[in-house]
Amino acid sequence: MLDGIRRYRWWKGVLEVFFPSVCVVCEKKLIHDEVCICNSCLTSVWRTEHAILKDNGIDMVFVELIHKSNKNIRYQKGAAWGYYNRECGQTLRRIIECKYGSRPIPKVFEYLGRIAAQEYIDSDLFDDVDFLVPVPLHNRRLRERGFNQAEWICRGISEVLQIPIDTEHLVRVRNNAHQAQSQFNKRLENVEGLFLVRYPEEWKGKHILLVDDVITSGSTLFACMKETVPIRGCRVSVFALGWAHNGG
Ligand SMILES: [Zn+2]
Repeated sequence: MLDGIRRYRWWKGVLEVFFPSVCVVCEKKLIHDEVCICNSCLTSVWRTEHAILKDNGIDMVFVELIHKSNKNIRYQKGAAWGYYNRECGQTLRRIIECKYGSRPIPKVFEYLGRIAAQEYIDSDLFDDVDFLVPVPLHNRRLRERGFNQAEWICRGISEVLQIPIDTEHLVRVRNNAHQAQSQFNKRLENVEGLFLVRYPEEWKGKHILLVDDVITSGSTLFACMKETVPIRGCRVSVFALGWAHNGG
């Protein structure tokens, strides 16, 4: 009998990870078609509307980084879905920070990827993108967390737009620990040589969309972009769920 109860609790725990029954933000019971987040919390995420704005805040971040670096990066466009800063990004922060919890929920990221893709479907953000490329986690971080949230965001986008996901070519060579605390210039140094592209000839002439959960200084995504410089004709765009535009 005791075994039966234990087994029931274990399965309940497993089900909660994949199909949570309460909202990850307000913990109210989910109803009808709600997935992971209740409709009222989902509505309260402050959208950036980046995908419909030309030269939006994300574009400015990367155009400036590229300009300063003097690298020949074929940057196309960038967007974040919602604000992640302290003033108006509290809901999205609480959703995304579930990745740090004792029982992180990958499905949340897939769901938000799907929502963002649906909301941006009429924009030109995803036009002629050949591959969705999630920013890879370091192996150790991946083992600790059990999933890469950026990859689950890509799954959601891919379900809506049928763009293939490429997790093979971009590789994280080392970990950049304590990134959040370091200063801007230090961050750029920190990410030097962080990634590499395997079999780069397969990205020749392709348009890749780099996907991450949050953009703060842009230094991690910029480090990925730099790896595309020697690949002839490879164009790059970026997408993140959240933008912490004042540094968090
Ligand atoms: Zn809620």
